[in-house]
Amino acid sequence: MRYGNRSLIIQSKTYKYSFIIFNSLITMKQLIILIFLLFAFTVSNAQKVLQSETSGSKSTPNVQQKAPQGQMRINFAEQEAIIKKFTRSFDSLTPMQQNMFFTNVKHIMDPEVTKIEPGIMDSDPPSDAIVLFNGKDLNEWEEITWGPGGPGEKKPITWIMKDGGMQPTSSSGSAQTKRVFRDFQLHIEWKTPAGLPATVTGQDRGNSGVIIQGNYEVQILDSYDNRTYRNGQAGAVYMQYAPLVNPSRKEGVWQTYEIIYTAPRFKDSGTYFTPPKITIIYNGVLVQNNVAIQGPTVSPGIPQYIIKEHGDGPIQLQQHGNPTTFRNIWIREL
Ligand code: MG
Repeated sequence: MRYGNRSLIIQSKTYKYSFIIFNSLITMKQLIILIFLLFAFTVSNAQKVLQSETSGSKSTPNVQQKAPQGQMRINFAEQEAIIKKFTRSFDSLTPMQQNMFFTNVKHIMDPEVTKIEPGIMDSDPPSDAIVLFNGKDLNEWEEITWGPGGPGEKKPITWIMKDGGMQPTSSSGSAQTKRVFRDFQLHIEWKTPAGLPATVTGQDRGNSGVIIQGNYEVQILDSYDNRTYRNGQAGAVYMQYAPLVNPSRKEGVWQTYEIIYTAPRFKDSGTYFTPPKITIIYNGVLVQNNVAIQGPTVSPGIPQYIIKEHGDGPIQLQQHGNPTTFRNIWIREL
């Protein structure tokens, strides 16, 4: 029976009972609860004894203390049994349940939770979001000529506004936010190009990606009717985790990712202390449930081998030779 430093167990020399005396930190309310529980066990046990005697049970009470039938009677052995029963009951509780005996439930008022204004629609940016693209300009973006795993050369963005969003030209590099981020909630909408020939299949069909902190790719692909390796289809953490299900819409139709990302924390050795964690909701459907990213995106290869410490990083939109279009991009730093 564990009570930590808050209690003292005193055993009576005469009757060897165990009683619990709690220190001054215990409140009267909690003490009353405990006394009530002990009393309830006592009464319950006594009633069982009386019922046993009434029904002719072979119970063998202490002869020296035998009381008239019908009178509530508790001998020492019975009381010790009651204490043991209470102890067993208490020990069977979870630590959290046990803690309820010793801890006041507090109603925490301050500081008040920050009030923000949500968007009119859930896809609209709330008042505390950073709008990265709303169809008006590309001011939040620059371009990088190298993909994940390489340093890349930054240059002004050459993506264009087309088909209701922003999309790369054939000569563009990947788009990259000028800002860098750590932990965040990202909303992003995208559509793969419509009208591709049926001969364009697999990873060639609408391939792009959301590359987080310049290291970790969430795959974008036309996965409506385009079989490819499961850990490389839309909604996958590329080469690491296939999506739980495939809720893809057809090519040319706007689709949505809600990405909740917790950046890695690093040991002094440069490996993960806690790995990056990611949750992805794809077209309103959970497809990645707080999975631990194993390392930077690499194909082929073992991501754990190329982990190296990094700080906050940009959001990249991959240029993979397809005019995949993006719109309504906003982010909330966490
Ligand atoms: Mg990709």
